[in-house]
Formats: sequence, C-alpha cells, structure tokens
Amino acid sequence: MKYKHRTRAERRLFKSRAKQRAEKVFGGDRKSYRFADNMKSCSCWMCQNPRRSQKGSKKLTIQERRFIEESTNDIEHSIIN
Ligand SMILES: [Zn+2]
Repeated sequence: MKYKHRTRAERRLFKSRAKQRAEKVFGGDRKSYRFADNMKSCSCWMCQNPRRSQKGSKKLTIQERRFIEESTNDIEHSIIN
C-alpha cells in the first residue's frame, strides 16, 4: 500500500470532521468526541480486547500464537537433526 503524505492541517481537519460525526451519532454529549477514532462506545465481549474475555490460548493474539508455534517447531527440528 502506498503511503499518502498528509499535512498536519489535513489531519486536524479530518479529525475535527470525525469528532463532529461522533457527536452526531452519540447524541452531542459533552464527551462524545472520545469515540471519534473508532465510533464505538461499547466494551461488550465482541468489541473489547480478547485478553479480557477469552480463556487459554485464545487470549493471545494471532501473532503471539504464531511465534510460539514457530519457536516450538524450531526446537523440535533442532532435536531431530
Ligand atoms: Zn460491543
């Protein structure tokens, strides 16, 4: 993906638009701009970080699970050879 350069002014403009949108969606509450980044004001088990809700190996991220699997495979490979 090609990175498109944005100036600080553009970023501020987009952020202010997102805040306006969030205020519209969340009823213009005093701090509804907090949800401008991802438009969610929820912490249910579907939206929250899986570390909080899942158990066992599902608690880890996919990257962490992949790393553990690769490192154990390397150890097994080195024992065999
Ligand atoms: Zn939710």
